[in-house]
Amino acid sequence: MSVVSIEREGEIAVVTVDNPPVNALGQALRQGLWDAVATLDADPDVRAVVLICAGRTFIAGADVREFGKPPVEPHLPDVVNRIEGAVKPWVAAIHGSALGGGFEVALGCRFRVALDGASVGLPEVGLGIVPGASGTVRTPRVAGAAAAVDLVTTGKPVKAAKAQAMGLVDAVLSGDLREGAIAFARAALEAPLPLPASERPVTDPAAAFWAEQQAAVAKRAKGEAAPLSALACVQKAVQAPFAEALAFERATFLDLRGSDQAAALRHVFFAERAAPRPAHLGEAKPLPLRNAGVIGGGTMGAGIAAALRDAGLPVVLIERDAEALARGLANLQTIFDGGVKRGKLTPEQAAARMAGVTGATDYAALADTDLVIEAVFEEIGVKRAVFADLARHCRADAVLATNTSYLDPRAIAEGLANPGRFIGLHFFSPANVMKLLEIVPTPETAPETLATGFALARALGKIPVQAGICEGFIGNRILKRYRAAAEALVRQGVAIAEVDAAMRGFGFAMGPFEAQDLGGLDIAFLQREGARAAGQDVPETLGDLLVRAGRKGQKTGGGWYDYAPGDRKPQASARVAEVLAAAITAGPALDHAAIAERLVGEMAAEGEAILAEGIALSPSDIDLVEIHGYGFPRWRGGPMHYTARKG
Ligand code: NAD
Repeated sequence: MSVVSIEREGEIAVVTVDNPPVNALGQALRQGLWDAVATLDADPDVRAVVLICAGRTFIAGADVREFGKPPVEPHLPDVVNRIEGAVKPWVAAIHGSALGGGFEVALGCRFRVALDGASVGLPEVGLGIVPGASGTVRTPRVAGAAAAVDLVTTGKPVKAAKAQAMGLVDAVLSGDLREGAIAFARAALEAPLPLPASERPVTDPAAAFWAEQQAAVAKRAKGEAAPLSALACVQKAVQAPFAEALAFERATFLDLRGSDQAAALRHVFFAERAAPRPAHLGEAKPLPLRNAGVIGGGTMGAGIAAALRDAGLPVVLIERDAEALARGLANLQTIFDGGVKRGKLTPEQAAARMAGVTGATDYAALADTDLVIEAVFEEIGVKRAVFADLARHCRADAVLATNTSYLDPRAIAEGLANPGRFIGLHFFSPANVMKLLEIVPTPETAPETLATGFALARALGKIPVQAGICEGFIGNRILKRYRAAAEALVRQGVAIAEVDAAMRGFGFAMGPFEAQDLGGLDIAFLQREGARAAGQDVPETLGDLLVRAGRKGQKTGGGWYDYAPGDRKPQASARVAEVLAAAITAGPALDHAAIAERLVGEMAAEGEAILAEGIALSPSDIDLVEIHGYGFPRWRGGPMHYTARKG
């Protein structure tokens, strides 16, 4: 069956695109649209055309299967021009999402109508490129310079109502989209037609506008090239004739498409798409998840419970006594209140989230729970006792998971009657925000339990990465190496602030020392002390010296830096210089690039070791861990991709 079909409704032709699953703009679709223009222009009975899509969405974008392959005719820019040049006006009828090339096709149409709840956008910057089929050129002519800058530099889709306010769509419809669009087309034929987008005049804002946008976009982009290039395209579109602007956009698009950043972002895009359904799960079926339990309502437990509620699962929260339970429930309330403050939740939604949480101190409340996630103190004895209780009270088929960061999950599961249902699910803080979920099976974990871990990640909208058992799994193990390497630089005389500045320059939001000051130096210190007490040979770190000097980070007024009361701005510290003086020897000076190369190289080297040991299943899994758990700049592709591409 053809992906493009034509029907007639009196003088209106309806062109239906049906290219499941998301009507991506593959060659067959481009050809179908190309041919439809000629067919309908030649039909004397047709006065206008409605372009609509079958399935769950309008044309959602390019066909990712064509990425990196030689382009095949007809090219998208030509298709868009041809629709715009049609003798009969076209009306794009949008439901679901019209993104990237999909929205560019809609811009070629004389009118755009959208179903309430639909969204439109030009997300190309997320792949390190700019729109390549007139998105940056037609958008300002349709909606003005400011709206175009917003749309193309952020890449964020906008919902129908906002799109209408911005001038991106002409009408928002509810009810039957096809009928509504046909009625819209009939009414439009009664009035003089607007100019095609390419012929519409556009006003150039004052020079100050461009200077402001330039500064704002550069600040947000933090080294990413595509958003600034997208801004340059819009400016060109506003200031130059249509054809010249189109050529500029095309040249920019081709230039960026071959760049390191675009390659990195494509790598991450494909890694993220593959992560939720890894091939090795095979036929294993996840167990149904109708509800969940969380043990411990502290930092992690409350965050995990919030994430489960966001996904619509009823939650039982267990704490050790009534007082701790009240604190745990208050922690959850604080999270939902924060959602309301930031405009992410309505007060009603927050109340409904909270109403779906049952607090308890008795494990009997877990009698019919499908999945329980333990997030109690990081102590083996406490955790073992929890799982013994769970084994007594939960259904025999309930999945039992631990959120441990460093303990050996095999030791936690020891003595469990049915170890096949046990698994590690390592969330990151704040657990309702951070996308990463490390999934840690033991040798005894059943395939269905593992599949359930991945299914949970999908339900929560998280990026799952499977990790083998070792101290710190994938992420914290690399973090340890990274921090040690950063300390090694300080020991050889590189200033603390220079290390942080270098990593910010590389694209991290924070350098390694600032980040420790924010999170606190004491947790890692206590862990090292614990290992020392257990007889392990753990060399003294610079962090140990600081904690012993009472410097645990921002919460104690200082760690690697000093902080003025109420101020989070790190200041170089004379006291730190004094405490560390004996450990520091002067070495060769390093510039920021060399510092970043050194530290990222160390991360990648640890990654290689992790792969060799089978702790991670692929280099791209390691990249996902670093990007989604540790703030590695997405547009660098992760330490493994970055290092491999450097050669
Ligand atoms: P936390 O101290 O904030 O919370 C622990 C909670 O567990 C407390 O509310 C405590 O009352 C409760 N608790 C203790 N014993 C209990 C019992 N027997 N029954 C029921 N509740 C009990 O600690 P946290 O930071 O939330 O860490 C919890 C777990 O998550 C640890 O294993 C930790 O290693 C892991 N983890 C922490 C982070 C992080 O960034 N904080 C990240 C990933 C994993």
